[in-house]
Amino acid sequence: SRSYMYTYIGKEMVDYIANYLQNIRQRRVFPNVSPGYMRTLVPETAPQDGEHWDDIFRDVERVIMPGITHWQSPYMHAYFPALNSFPSLLGDMLADAIGCLGFTWASSPACTELETIVMDWLGKMIGLPSGFLHSNKQTMGGGVIQVTASDCTFISLLAARTEILRKFKNSGLEDMEVNSRLVAYCSDQAHSSVEKAGLIALVKMRFIECDDELSMRGDAIQEVIDKDREDGLIPFYVCATLGTTGACAFDNLKEIGPICERQGLWLHIDAAYAGTAFICPEFRKYMEGVEYANSFAFNPSKWMMGIRLATKFELLVRNDSRFEVAAKRILGMVVFRLKGENELTEILLKRLNRSGKVHMVPASLRGKYVIRFTVTSQYTEDCDIERDWKIISATATKVLHDDES
Ligand code: PLP
Repeated sequence: SRSYMYTYIGKEMVDYIANYLQNIRQRRVFPNVSPGYMRTLVPETAPQDGEHWDDIFRDVERVIMPGITHWQSPYMHAYFPALNSFPSLLGDMLADAIGCLGFTWASSPACTELETIVMDWLGKMIGLPSGFLHSNKQTMGGGVIQVTASDCTFISLLAARTEILRKFKNSGLEDMEVNSRLVAYCSDQAHSSVEKAGLIALVKMRFIECDDELSMRGDAIQEVIDKDREDGLIPFYVCATLGTTGACAFDNLKEIGPICERQGLWLHIDAAYAGTAFICPEFRKYMEGVEYANSFAFNPSKWMMGIRLATKFELLVRNDSRFEVAAKRILGMVVFRLKGENELTEILLKRLNRSGKVHMVPASLRGKYVIRFTVTSQYTEDCDIERDWKIISATATKVLHDDES
């Protein structure tokens, strides 16, 4: 019968998924395909008649997998990770089966109820002040799930704009006039999504120069705000980053927060990657000053597993005099480079990525080309880090040898 068939196929898919994750080390982490590869593998139009399930299933290995960058692989050290786990996979299956929408409480009460409860759990887990929680009835606080950290920045910017337009309601200035004078601030290390939020919202965004530790400081931002006020502009929003994309550096909230409070600026905190680390009390010192924030965002999907392996990798890099660690490592990311010209590190990274054995991406830190190595996959073990370092070190030997000859 049909339902028996679905059960059988469903089990086959669960087996496939379990096999895929358990044997993920056997695959190239970075695919070896060229743009447009898939066009030749599938028909130009959707089939008129449904295909047999076995044929569709075969296409997973034939069409899809050759073009996958395996983000769950222990050999994936690029970007920041986007992780899953078996419980989350099963949860997704159930959610897909229920298939409800939760845009109001009544459209599916369990969605809203679960969201508010779990967001409070998360807020408590990372030690946010109680004003951020739904359970605190004195404040308007409470978390909501957004699609991405980029969306969070954009939405917080819109909320801040709504607030400032409200404040200027009886000032004699039209909304459009106020909008054209608005100015927002972030550090020169902020993620590109912050600049994008300003572009979409049509507000000026200033990029404040960071100090030597790549941290945005109070004095630097105050100076620019003062100048903007003198020029008749309206400062209204600051996006501070905890855990920057390039180097995992932390803006100084203890200095920036009081400035925002005194001057009535909305303070949004983008802790996309680092936010999860505040589950560990020893890392909470990096979010001191969070009580000044109007909004705070982080991506639990980026990781919820361990820092220890990054420390191990950092040690391996530091023990090899050909390399340097280009910024202080605090959490699960090490930024490193070959000493000397940028070109050497660039060639090294290209060769490593082409091999498909490990995958990393670069960043530019004040003109220095660096490799970002993130270690957060739940499957990564000590032996994986040792293997990856062997590959990096041997490739570096070849790059330096070619450079000399
Ligand atoms: N903010 C920071 C600091 C990030 O590092 C990133 C991504 O790495 C983002 C924002 C964007 O995250 P998302 O892909 O969830 O929009």
